[in-house]
Amino acid sequence: MPQTDFLDERPVTQLKGVGAKVAEKLQRLGIHTISDVLFHLPYRYEDRSKVVAIGSLERGGSAVFEGRVELSEVTFRGRRTLLVRLSDDTGFVTLRFFHFSLSQKEALQRGQWLRCFGEARALRKARGLEIIHPEYQLIDEQDRGKINHGVLPVYPVTEGLRQASLRKLAKQAISLANEGGQLLECLPSSVLRENDWPSLNNCLMKLHQPGKMPATGLLDQFAFKRLVFEELLANHLSLSRLKKVTQQHPAPVFDKGERLQQDFLRSLGFSLTAAQQRVIAEIRQDVQRNAPMQRLLQGDVGSGKTVVAACAALYAVSSGYQVALMAPTELLAEQHFKVFSDWLQPLGVYVAWLVGKHKGKTYQSITNQISKGQANVIIGTQALFQDKVSFAKLGLVIIDEQHRFGVQQRIALRDKADSAQMPHQLVMTATPIPRTLAMLGYADLDLSIIDELPPGRTAVTTSVVSVVKRDNVISRIEQGVKNGRQVYWVCTLIEESEVLQCQAAEDAAKLLQQSMPNARVGLIHGRLSADEKQKMMTDFKQNKLDVLVATTVIEVGVDVPNASLMVIENAERLGLAQLHQLRGRVGRGVKESHCVLLYQPPLSKNANERLSVLRQTTDGFKIAEEDMKLRGPGELLGKRQAGFLRFKIADMTRDAKMLPAVELAAEQILQESPEVVEVLARRWLSNLVDYALV
Ligand code: ADP
Ligand code: MG
Repeated sequence: MPQTDFLDERPVTQLKGVGAKVAEKLQRLGIHTISDVLFHLPYRYEDRSKVVAIGSLERGGSAVFEGRVELSEVTFRGRRTLLVRLSDDTGFVTLRFFHFSLSQKEALQRGQWLRCFGEARALRKARGLEIIHPEYQLIDEQDRGKINHGVLPVYPVTEGLRQASLRKLAKQAISLANEGGQLLECLPSSVLRENDWPSLNNCLMKLHQPGKMPATGLLDQFAFKRLVFEELLANHLSLSRLKKVTQQHPAPVFDKGERLQQDFLRSLGFSLTAAQQRVIAEIRQDVQRNAPMQRLLQGDVGSGKTVVAACAALYAVSSGYQVALMAPTELLAEQHFKVFSDWLQPLGVYVAWLVGKHKGKTYQSITNQISKGQANVIIGTQALFQDKVSFAKLGLVIIDEQHRFGVQQRIALRDKADSAQMPHQLVMTATPIPRTLAMLGYADLDLSIIDELPPGRTAVTTSVVSVVKRDNVISRIEQGVKNGRQVYWVCTLIEESEVLQCQAAEDAAKLLQQSMPNARVGLIHGRLSADEKQKMMTDFKQNKLDVLVATTVIEVGVDVPNASLMVIENAERLGLAQLHQLRGRVGRGVKESHCVLLYQPPLSKNANERLSVLRQTTDGFKIAEEDMKLRGPGELLGKRQAGFLRFKIADMTRDAKMLPAVELAAEQILQESPEVVEVLARRWLSNLVDYALV
């Protein structure tokens, strides 16, 4: 390594404005060095370079606009709200504030001009557009149009760190880079030559300060491609290394449990599908060797992965080892706890669970059972591994719904075992991933696929309906409820703001209750406590509720076989994988099920085609394939990649073409300059988990 001014080695505290306190917050984003600031990439941009006429504001778009206050009033429908109606000469728009001060209200007098920035949403009754909590400033009429901001990057932030601070830090870091601060070049020179890529500094600068709003063409830019390449490379190298290192550890041998498994399978009310049997056999082979199993179990929603996990658990328990099962939400953890208890307790297996709500004495007693080895199977959320929980004899780790977790968590889990022996690991996901992609995204794992659903499932029929016909849909629900059906109503805003999403769900619940006074309507969203969520879910499961209005918290795993109707709002704004995942919550029982995808008109041609895919098939693999084909180039940076390994900028489906070259480069690096693996991993993976929370 040449000795120069390496930004990789300079602590972030060398930047202006970063004291101990800020540094601590930055750490939460995985930022320790100046180079980390540069690799903390924006996930979208805001165009503040021009003022948009109110009449040409687009739904879903963020823009700067200016207008005169026409009307300002406080309403009390539902909750206290300040509504401000603005107009320029091209149209009207409504600003909506749920939190506001008296002085704020008074400043917004009729006739006052404002400059605002925010995302326009459509009002329910098509009364035009509205903006919730826009940024705004009071301006004089003669200052209209005088703005001097350019295009601003938007970064993942954390509590107590504002967008503005991150922008300042990025600016400083870029100046340093331009003044000769260096970043270690990790790519082999042959790769650089072949592609004629610009320098790393240059590429990073283009992403942080794009100058003008990056259009769809961004993806074709060298700067972008180069960074995507590096990110894929970083992943591939880290995972390959992980696999190699893991395989060098001995693992426990599970060679007992046949009898117990037979008893278990006999106690089930069904027989395994051929695919389940095949996959169980693959796992059986793995755990009989004394090297750690590292297996990815992939099977569409409802394909029956849980039974497979239970069999694996029985092997471990029969050989005297503990099993830890990690679920992405408390809701799912509790559901697994119930299922595993029902299945395994009668066989003499002790099942425990540990989640955030277990505190004080309860917590103590559970962790004691774990550390003394009394608990055989322990189910929990991430908390299971972050807290100071020690296992007496951990032999198998099962991770459910892997797409919700990052690579880092996979690594952390493995660290939990004592170093002499590595536990076997089974990772489960409902995300259909083409095999070639899986090899890269999960290069540390072997792949098993359940490619068949249990018999007797009724296919879910799907229709695509304009929100204009919402009333029809509601009367259909009402009819369904009368016939004993249970219904999910899913509110999906794809904003970063959880608050808004919850707000939308609250509104929807109110509306539904008003329209159907006789129906029992429940509400579940991310801001409820774990207990409240659990209670809602249990009530729904026990048929004490007819309609469950929910945010996407119900996306993973929940199993309520009687629910047979699902309505998804704003369906056009979600990825197909996520819609498929959501839809998988119905069609689990014997009732014929139906899913209604509500969209806000007008529906673009592409959106129409995408939604049609869901109408035509329920096959997760097909959906993934079509999704890849129909993916618009407009979906750029850090789009929520629900259903896949999360990257900062790479996108497995979009960037699949690069994989062969990435693999070649990886081999070359491992031979010629293995020391850069560490640097690449730090740059690209160290804050991956936090990106997952954006
Ligand atoms: P997922 O793969 O989405 O996790 P689950 O394991 O929750 O699916 O299984 C969905 C439902 O199907 C559960 O109620 C489960 O008991 C049931 N099931 C699993 N395997 C079979 C089978 N072979 N035959 C019938 N029902 C099954
Ligand atoms: Mg599951």
